Amino acid sequence: MWIGVWMAGAGFIGRHRRHMTYGQPQPLPSQWDSFKQVVQDELSVGAWQTWIAPLQAHQTDSALTLVAPSEFHRSWVRDRYLTALHNATEATYGPGVEIRLDVLEGTAAVETASTIPVAETAVPEPPQQQSLPLNGESRLISKYTFDNFVVGSSNRFANAAAMAVAEQPGSQYNPLFIYADAGLGKTHLLHAVGHHRKELAPDAVIRYVTSEQFFNEFINGIRRKRMDEFKARYRTIDLLLLDDVQFFDGKEQILEEFFHTFNSLYEADKQLVITSDRHPRHLTTLEDRLRSRFEWGLLTDIQTPDVETRLAILRSNAEFAPAPVPQDVLEFIAESVLNNIRELEGALTRVTAYAALTHETITLETAREVLRDLVPALDATPLTSDDIINRVASFAGHTREELVGPSRRQPLARYRQIAMYLCREHTDLSLPKIGKAFGGRDHTTVLHAVEKIRSLMQSDANVYKDVTSLSQDLRTT
Ligand code: ADP
Ligand code: MG
Repeated sequence: MWIGVWMAGAGFIGRHRRHMTYGQPQPLPSQWDSFKQVVQDELSVGAWQTWIAPLQAHQTDSALTLVAPSEFHRSWVRDRYLTALHNATEATYGPGVEIRLDVLEGTAAVETASTIPVAETAVPEPPQQQSLPLNGESRLISKYTFDNFVVGSSNRFANAAAMAVAEQPGSQYNPLFIYADAGLGKTHLLHAVGHHRKELAPDAVIRYVTSEQFFNEFINGIRRKRMDEFKARYRTIDLLLLDDVQFFDGKEQILEEFFHTFNSLYEADKQLVITSDRHPRHLTTLEDRLRSRFEWGLLTDIQTPDVETRLAILRSNAEFAPAPVPQDVLEFIAESVLNNIRELEGALTRVTAYAALTHETITLETAREVLRDLVPALDATPLTSDDIINRVASFAGHTREELVGPSRRQPLARYRQIAMYLCREHTDLSLPKIGKAFGGRDHTTVLHAVEKIRSLMQSDANVYKDVTSLSQDLRTT
């Protein structure tokens, strides 16, 4: 059924895509307006007008197809706004409606992004989220695929092992245990395993869960006397992707429960993939019986990437930048950011955002200027979430309680998102930890804030300026 054209210029109306036809025009369904409203609320005016409004929309019962005017436009929307579109679809149409992104002319492949939650048995989190209804906390993040994972000497083995378990789960490498410092791709690889398995075995029950979520669900299970549900949920999984297991360290109750979950999955030849920021032998409070189980399978680390890998990652990210990024700029960034791929991405974002906002071409000189805070003071102590929260609160003219509190008033809520973004970029904290620092918010709320700020930086000069000056402040003092 044909729905309509989003605020599209007359140029789009009446143009037909060559390779696909739709049924007869139908009246607008009532959800349509609320769908648009949800998306619009989520994005900046600039992002909405530039990227979303020009999309044409068509709907069938099971899919919402959004048609972009160019391949570049499509990939931009896919990379930056797919989560927002997903969430809006699920909020207005309910689960099971797919979003497809297509291109108006030409024959580019159709991109399909299922909104069906990966974990069929996912339990909704308590309603603590501040932003839009993020229903799918167990859903795989669509861009964290093997295709988007750049392989170099630092991660070659981990990548191969992850690929192997996706292809032959439950056989040789069980569990697969991946450990590495923050920002080196553990979460990305976990999701990649999930995506790849899903492609090979669409019916497999796959669940990505952070250790903190697992813990919370367990506690809720006890509180609500629903332990049977909890057990059933975790013992009927084919592939369990458990992130940041160091969170369990020191929590006896959950270790006991996880031990049983582990055994029952393991004995049923179900695959487990576990990540941690350290080797099992450094998970000090873990009982030997669990530690030895982690070592039964395959242990692999990810090292900090060498300069070639950093460059390759930048190059692959730069493909989606609004304007070409010269080689010497990529090299400059690769040589300035050494230890953390998140920071590497953050640096590239800042450079491309600056160029997009000022309509300047990107040169080495502008990159040096924009990133002049990248060389940190030698004796700099690592930033904490408290440092960042305090700094952003005083910058915004609010108290820290207000900044981490529930109010959704603007501009307070925007500063909260900026503070989350800065925590992601400038600390090693995982998404759940950042959520916790902000009054116990869900990790998906944090991820949403990070993506929101990243995209706003490209379109809203004020956001860009605030983020840049706060970053520089934080780095230099
Ligand atoms: P960790 O979970 O180890 O802290 P993440 O998986 O969150 O790290 O990775 C941080 C960021 O770096 C993510 O945006 C991820 O996509 C990116 N990244 C990490 N490793 C790679 C890689 N090899 N190729 C491309 N992107 C990567
Ligand atoms: Mg992670």
